[in-house]
Amino acid sequence: MNENAMKTEVIPASAADMAPFIESVKAWTSDFALREGRAPRCHVLTFGCQQNEADSEKLLGMALQMGYEGTDDPANADLILVNTCAIREHAEKRALSIIGQFKHLKEQNPHLIIGVCGCMVAQEHRRSQLQKSYPYVSFVLCTSVLYRLPQYLAEVQARGKRLFKGEEELTVAEGLPIQRASGYRAYVSIMYGCNNFCSYCIVPYVRGRERSREPADVIREVQELVEAGYKDITLLGQNVNSYGKGRADGYDFADLLRELDRIPGDHMLHFMTSHPKDATKKLVDVMAAGKHIAHSFHLPLQSGSDEILRRMNRHYDRAQYLEILDYMREKMPDIAVTSDIIVGFPGESEADFEDTLAMLRRARFDMIFSFIYSPRKGTPAAEMPQQIPREVQNARFDRLLALQAEIAAEQNTPLTGTVQRVLCDGVSKKNSDIYNGRTPQNKIVFFEEPAPEGTWLSVRVDRAEAFALYGTVIK
Ligand code: SF4
Repeated sequence: MNENAMKTEVIPASAADMAPFIESVKAWTSDFALREGRAPRCHVLTFGCQQNEADSEKLLGMALQMGYEGTDDPANADLILVNTCAIREHAEKRALSIIGQFKHLKEQNPHLIIGVCGCMVAQEHRRSQLQKSYPYVSFVLCTSVLYRLPQYLAEVQARGKRLFKGEEELTVAEGLPIQRASGYRAYVSIMYGCNNFCSYCIVPYVRGRERSREPADVIREVQELVEAGYKDITLLGQNVNSYGKGRADGYDFADLLRELDRIPGDHMLHFMTSHPKDATKKLVDVMAAGKHIAHSFHLPLQSGSDEILRRMNRHYDRAQYLEILDYMREKMPDIAVTSDIIVGFPGESEADFEDTLAMLRRARFDMIFSFIYSPRKGTPAAEMPQQIPREVQNARFDRLLALQAEIAAEQNTPLTGTVQRVLCDGVSKKNSDIYNGRTPQNKIVFFEEPAPEGTWLSVRVDRAEAFALYGTVIK
């Protein structure tokens, strides 16, 4: 059976089977409050991508619904949820070292419950490592069963159990409470999982098969966000372009985006991440005709060599990539296109790398996220011959960044003197004397005039650099 045709089961949050657990945890938290004179506190620590950030907002939303309060300080917490990433070995090691540091918190607060969630715990070897070597960790919760947090907490609280089940469901939980980190920028997951099996990527093994939310559920959520005053809504998926694949009615991502664009308001819509093999001219036409769809497209290329793209199992070549890129630029000349590039993939010759540099010169990305290839246990590429020596990878990485910095500066320079629409993010995190925000093309803009977060500004660009614009707010 074609994987995409498998029917996704939609689990309403109010599903009967979670209700008794929610009540059990609520009873536990109110007992705690009576005993301790305060509500128990929950701290969620997030590693990795926007999808993990969106999941963490649901984890905190469920905890608050069951009587916990949020805290930014793990030392003050009675429940710590660590939402992990598995994209690289390094990300897992970082999470495990931080979980290791929580040992003393458990010694200080024996009531403390520690749960580990996210992509890392989808792997059996990591679950058994946590079970054996981290006795103060109470449970692991896999990404596809996030909505079962009440059940896991109830079992731990009521019976002191430790739970290390690996679970994968082809389900989508709807209506979970969400505690959003921002009051004006929001993530909306529209699909989960990935069926692409790029040879270097662990995601399909830890996030499961693709399953899309029902259009009506997505539209309702975005409608509510716009009515609540949200200004920037980012639609999320490991591969948003394959949204709805396998639906009998043929409804796809472009159809969803067109419907979302009909929602009136002064907001903008972004989406990520796209896969070039599923990026269609239909989608580009919907973007170009849209009122709220930001002219910003993140389209991971990964390599400029057709041979390396074949070995990566990416299912497109340079020509196909450039065809959709050129069509985007023809339809939306002001579009900002960003990409992901992997350097030093097994078997990457100097000529293959030169092809990547040539593609950068041709594609002229506004920005790239660049990575040095590192083998991921369990992926085909990790077993491939001709792994590239680190010093060669590093040298190529430096050459790639140097070229992209030139291109990014050339892409931004023509913006000098223009007036940009900017969504203000308030005081700059790096320099409290200045403010910053982002254009619909996701370009960061710095300015000196104070302005409230979440408001639209008109900013005249006085100076353009490779990775930032500097300007003056004009009233
Ligand atoms: S499209 Fe490829 S790189 Fe992206 S999540 Fe899926 S398998 Fe990984």
